[in-house]
Amino acid sequence: MEILIQSIGTVENKLLRTLEKPLEKIFGINCHVSNDILEIPERSYNPSRDQYHSTEILYSMMNILKRDSNHILGVTNVDLYASRINFVLGEAEYPGNFAIISVNRLKSPNKKLFLKRILTEAVHELGHTFGLPHCKNHLCVMHFSNSVVETDIKGPGFCSDCLSKLF
Ligand SMILES: [Zn+2]
Ligand SMILES: [Zn+2]
Repeated sequence: MEILIQSIGTVENKLLRTLEKPLEKIFGINCHVSNDILEIPERSYNPSRDQYHSTEILYSMMNILKRDSNHILGVTNVDLYASRINFVLGEAEYPGNFAIISVNRLKSPNKKLFLKRILTEAVHELGHTFGLPHCKNHLCVMHFSNSVVETDIKGPGFCSDCLSKLF
């Protein structure tokens, strides 16, 4: 079992590689970036919203990538939405193998903050694949966030409750 990071459309490889070590440390399993790029499925694009449907992209990942026992984190640059939600920072199987995050709304001129946000959303969505539900503790990474403000408040760490459910 390992964590595979998969770019969905073009995402800077260097950016993805910064996730490897921290995710290994947090989840205690190997993590590596896939060399392939998965195309963004055309049918996920909604021209009237100029956004991509995250669930469609998740389905496409499930169809194309081997499930094995791995946890696969798709990372994309495009803006995502889900049914009835204006936009989403990510979505995941709960529990399961597949998760996706978008870095689109996480961008900041502060590179360190940008990377921290990406890690936070990566841990959150992967946490769902490991069976963790949303957490009421607003400082915990599993707290639901639908804005970067909330992402910045919580950061990439689990609260002790979530940590005990994870291991
Ligand atoms: Zn969530
Ligand atoms: Zn928690």
